[in-house]
Amino acid sequence: MVNLLDFDLNGLATFCESLGEKRFRAVQLFRWIHQRGESSFDAMTDLAKTFRQKLQSHASIKGLTVISEQRSSDGTIKWLFDVGDGNAVESVYIPEDDRATLCVSSQAGCAVGCRFCSTGHQGFSRNLTTAEITAQLWFAEHLLRRELGRDERIISNVVMMGMGEPLQNFSALVPALRTMLDDHAYGLSRRRVTVSTSGVVPMMERLAQECPVALAVSLHAPNDSLRDSLVPLNRKYPLHELLAACSAYLPSAPRDFITFEYCMLDGVNDTHEHAQELVRLLKTTPCKLNLIPFNPFPASGLLRSKAKTVQEFAKVLLDAGIVTTVRKTRGDDIDAACGQLAGEVQDRTHVLRRIDKQRATSTPITE
Ligand code: SAH
Ligand code: SF4
Repeated sequence: MVNLLDFDLNGLATFCESLGEKRFRAVQLFRWIHQRGESSFDAMTDLAKTFRQKLQSHASIKGLTVISEQRSSDGTIKWLFDVGDGNAVESVYIPEDDRATLCVSSQAGCAVGCRFCSTGHQGFSRNLTTAEITAQLWFAEHLLRRELGRDERIISNVVMMGMGEPLQNFSALVPALRTMLDDHAYGLSRRRVTVSTSGVVPMMERLAQECPVALAVSLHAPNDSLRDSLVPLNRKYPLHELLAACSAYLPSAPRDFITFEYCMLDGVNDTHEHAQELVRLLKTTPCKLNLIPFNPFPASGLLRSKAKTVQEFAKVLLDAGIVTTVRKTRGDDIDAACGQLAGEVQDRTHVLRRIDKQRATSTPITE
């Protein structure tokens, strides 16, 4: 059985052709799925009966199973989805005055293994399929429309900032992005769909060619030796290559700047000298800098920078003419903030393993 959430419009047209139907039939079907949130072919009454029968026997529209839903007092909602074999991924809905953002996952776990990231500590399980990426938006958008009794679009922005490194799952990512952008589906603006990457340099170029959307690059350090230790991928693609890839991305980008994310870690990357080094590093790249207060978790052994340190750090950059913002944390009461998305199912097994190990060596359990 083919899951139709696996296709962008072009893929769906090819699938329709394989059923002996005209390619243009896909448009109507695509609209039913993504604009109306329909999963039953029976309900698609304006499609020819013979077409519907073929769809019944060859295809399905299958979303993800929700394991849990948590709602924060600030309106943020976090869903945990089952993706089989004991793996789970999360999506977070963040409503604001002028926009509503969905933070989407691209992998179960992550192979990059950044020191400050809870997903990274979990290790890599597997890539999500296009259907599993698209289903996060499909589910959230239509659930919220039903709840709010609204017919028009609710989610205006998507950020690929959930679990996983999207550019290490490129072939599944691109059709999902195309569906997000398609006017027959969610019709999101390219400027409002952001891929966040820890710096998979070759894939940045391919993204520019195949599906240019807004780009955020997770920097976290102003020099190679510190970045090597925080973001291990830096050993493969060091800063000069990463910044060159950023500049090369800009001509195709829907925005005329790159967003750099910088997670503020107490005593690690937040000193005055680091700020000055960062100014020198970013001088020639049109960018915005987003300082993210670190969301601590015990296994990291790291602490969040003090608010005053963050302000002083931001001032050095602002004084040098670099647009700098400090990210508000949202959904704190439900652990929905950046880097806390660890997938409780996986996490629990990890914790159990850790406890077993600790019992074996009879050291006290600290977590
Ligand atoms: N793999 C991609 C996208 C997912 S991570 C990337 O690294 O860009 C999304 C963002 O959350 C990244 O900027 C990442 O650095 C940040 N992040 C990860 N762990 C964090 C934590 N514990 N506190 C704050 N931000 C964190
Ligand atoms: Fe992976 Fe991004 Fe977490 Fe690094 S910060 S481990 S790249 S998800």
